[in-house]
Amino acid sequence: MRIDLHTHSTASDGTDTPAELVSKAAATGLDVVAITDHDNTAGWDAAVEALPDGLTLVRGMEMSCVGLGEDGLPVPVHLLAYLFDPGDEVFGRERERLRAERIERVRGMAERMRADGLPVDPDAVLASAGPSAGRPHLARALVAAGVVPSVGAAFEELLAPHGPYYVEKADTPLRNAVEMIATAGGVSVLAHARARKRGRVLALREVRDLAEIGLGGLEIAHPDHSDADRDVLSGLAAELGLITTGSSDYHGTNKTIRLGEFTTEPEQFEQIVGKATGVPVINR
Ligand code: AMP
Ligand code: FE
Ligand code: FE
Ligand code: ZN
Repeated sequence: MRIDLHTHSTASDGTDTPAELVSKAAATGLDVVAITDHDNTAGWDAAVEALPDGLTLVRGMEMSCVGLGEDGLPVPVHLLAYLFDPGDEVFGRERERLRAERIERVRGMAERMRADGLPVDPDAVLASAGPSAGRPHLARALVAAGVVPSVGAAFEELLAPHGPYYVEKADTPLRNAVEMIATAGGVSVLAHARARKRGRVLALREVRDLAEIGLGGLEIAHPDHSDADRDVLSGLAAELGLITTGSSDYHGTNKTIRLGEFTTEPEQFEQIVGKATGVPVINR
């Protein structure tokens, strides 16, 4: 069984449509794939529609949250949400709020760039973005305009939090997110919680507090985690009785990682399925 529980499509900042994503997942030999676009479920139906025979689809999302960093200051945190009921009203309203935050934030960053003389058109960037506008869409516009050679370079030089054009957005407090996902029948898994190359990371004591209010699991095997990061997280998961996952965080050509390059153990996947009451997994 090969199981990849963290991937992005054009419904956020991936470059494969949901249909291409499930088709590539099957072609690469995966048995289970989760679609986890940032802050929305817009890709779910197209992924279901295009699901190839023999592939199991997990409908999910990666939610933009804010937690407490090791230094006691707020830090951005990504929380994977699996198999929740998309009709839950409170959770649905929060997704709408995050979507609006994303649009305002990307517009703000694009306007700062334009004011500084960079060839960036805020409306065109937003038009290219689909339902979840993000910095990768700005990065692609900068590459297309010849400002930087690659998406990675755009992040390093222009888009990072300490960079000249960064604009904050108001993400969901992590505790509220864990509770909303649980109420909607979903299972929450902290994504790449030790990914230091993205910046500061969440305090480990926050994970202990979240486990008490219903956090489901920790993503352990991830391209941005070192062996030492995995050891720390595995130890914590064992101590707290949390599910552990491994996934590629595939983004098509926006990143170099391949589908299925990191995977989840079947027993861990079964625990997610067993715990969820929102929507079922789908296979045909
Ligand atoms: P945003 O959601 O707008 O804050 O943008 C964050 C997204 O940018 C993440 O989900 C990643 O997909 C992507 N990202 C972050 N750092 C990099 C990087 N160095 N190279 C490519 N993509 C990145
Ligand atoms: Fe992303
Ligand atoms: Fe993430
Ligand atoms: Zn992701």
